[in-house]
Amino acid sequence: KSKNRNIDSNQEQDFVAPSDPIVKDILIPETISVADLGHKMAIKASELIKSLMGMGMMVTINQVLDQETAMILVEEMGHNPQAAKDNDPESLLDNDESIVPQIESRPPVVTVMGHVDHGKTSLLDFIRTSRVASGEAGGITQHIGAYHVKTEKGVATFLDTPGHEAFTAMRARGAKATDIVVLVVAADDGVMPQTIEGINHSKAAGVPLIVAINKIDKPDANSEKVKNELLAQEVIPEDLGGDSMFVEISAKTGQGIDNLLDAILLQAEILELKAPINTPAKGIIIEGRLDKGRGPAATLLVQSGFIRPGDSLLAGNASGRIKAMLNEAGKSVNEAGPSIPVEVIGLSEVPKAGDEFIVLSDEKKAREIALFRQGKFRDVKLAKQASKLENVFDQMTEAEVRFLPLIIKADVQGSAEALAGSLEKLSTEEVKVNVIHSAIGAVNESDINLASASNAVIIAFNVKADSGARKLADNLEVDMRNYSIIYEAVDEVKSALGGLLAPEQKENILGLVEIREIYKASKVGNIAGCIVLEGLIRRNSNVRLLRDNDVIFEGELDSLKRFKDDAKEVKANIECGLALKNFNDIEVGDKVQVYELVQVPRKL
Ligand code: GDP
Repeated sequence: KSKNRNIDSNQEQDFVAPSDPIVKDILIPETISVADLGHKMAIKASELIKSLMGMGMMVTINQVLDQETAMILVEEMGHNPQAAKDNDPESLLDNDESIVPQIESRPPVVTVMGHVDHGKTSLLDFIRTSRVASGEAGGITQHIGAYHVKTEKGVATFLDTPGHEAFTAMRARGAKATDIVVLVVAADDGVMPQTIEGINHSKAAGVPLIVAINKIDKPDANSEKVKNELLAQEVIPEDLGGDSMFVEISAKTGQGIDNLLDAILLQAEILELKAPINTPAKGIIIEGRLDKGRGPAATLLVQSGFIRPGDSLLAGNASGRIKAMLNEAGKSVNEAGPSIPVEVIGLSEVPKAGDEFIVLSDEKKAREIALFRQGKFRDVKLAKQASKLENVFDQMTEAEVRFLPLIIKADVQGSAEALAGSLEKLSTEEVKVNVIHSAIGAVNESDINLASASNAVIIAFNVKADSGARKLADNLEVDMRNYSIIYEAVDEVKSALGGLLAPEQKENILGLVEIREIYKASKVGNIAGCIVLEGLIRRNSNVRLLRDNDVIFEGELDSLKRFKDDAKEVKANIECGLALKNFNDIEVGDKVQVYELVQVPRKL
């Protein structure tokens, strides 16, 4: 997307009053942290936190806001909020304006349609087995939902899911994955209902059609009859002035398949297919499956940019770092660019066909958005950050709401409910226990991810964490606690909540001093010659000046001396000199009460 730049040099440059605030368009993704939002507007996060407080929301700098809240906030700040579409990488990524998109031509993506038994599968199989990874003849090719082939004239990618359903399913999700439709019509059968359906689908999508008249090896093949029937459907061949290429093939013998590939590449040339190659990778999920050994696996079709192992992906509801990337021959590859399909391993769950994916620089952000899309984030919108049980106190600042988000996993429903009930009952006006998720069973990776995203503490009651979850908890530094006795869990949460309470300030009386003499020093004011009656006096103590038991002054010492030297501390029955900060009106007989303020943690 191009930025509006004024390139008209003839235009008069009027003086612009510097007081005019600059109103910026701010693109807002589904979720955004306070820090990132501040960054986008060039406003300090503390300003945003203040504004949010004004709106009745207590948040931290790392808190993730939903789009709606963020938009209101941006408006409040005098800027122009714009809701970003899902997967718009411009909104999810840092505004890196330094990237000038480098656009290059890309291979065509082809879908095969046609009536049942006309040879769609046979055609795809023939092309795959004869063309894919021809360098590794006899190599195992696996079905990953799409493959690309190389010919002398270029590369073409086939979506290996024949039929109209996949095509329409993708379209229904707003994804355009196909550049060219190959319509397979059996020469011995002619135009049939699904042939017409295929024509209509490709027309509706505005995708050009190449007709493959199949089974021409058959003795009863009749190409002319097929052409005439297609004419009736307004599919007009080029030699009759239309724009559809017709190719005669046999998916059985391979006759004409090279011509078909040529036609596809010629059509692609006409379409001038292009894509940026240096922007963050983006594309579409072709197929997802659960691999028994390796977990969720997904076939992606890259549509722009390059994807590489190690990249952090957001794909629909799933997120993760690419652990392995394989081509259609099952060989690992180092990168895949526009129009190239690959299978990736490493996602948190199986994404749906038709979901869009993007590569994000920040794995945590990808996970956050995925969780948000799963609906899990809504519950924790206002969850407090950083709730490690032992250090909640350290990390508290004034702007934070004192929430303790918890995830409860237990062996039986009864325990889970009892725990949730007793823990929630610990809430007070000032501190709240917020059970964001409670379920039966071992702690799994999804629990850890949720805990990490919402900074919750996991309470595992009579259940263990599976090994994957333990590893992930270590990585993400999630606080997970095991209990087998309810009151132990309640006790620990109670003391953690105590730490969330603002501490009480308590006064601790240190000593009493009597003023015996007054020395007038011209420069520093009156100095009191004193004796410590009880306890002690320290240089940094708080003091109260008492005259006949009335408090005349309350404040600090300006100086404390033993003879001519500064003293840190003077004990009972010892003489000292002192001066009060900003107070001169002392009299003989006044008493000075010495005290300190201590912070006392409160308990529930
Ligand atoms: P689909 O339902 O469109 O996927 O059709 P298939 O690819 O399953 O083919 C249906 C039948 O037609 C199968 O028995 C194929 O072996 C046969 N067939 C497909 N293409 C050809 C061809 O070019 N020539 C001949 N003789 N048979 C074919």
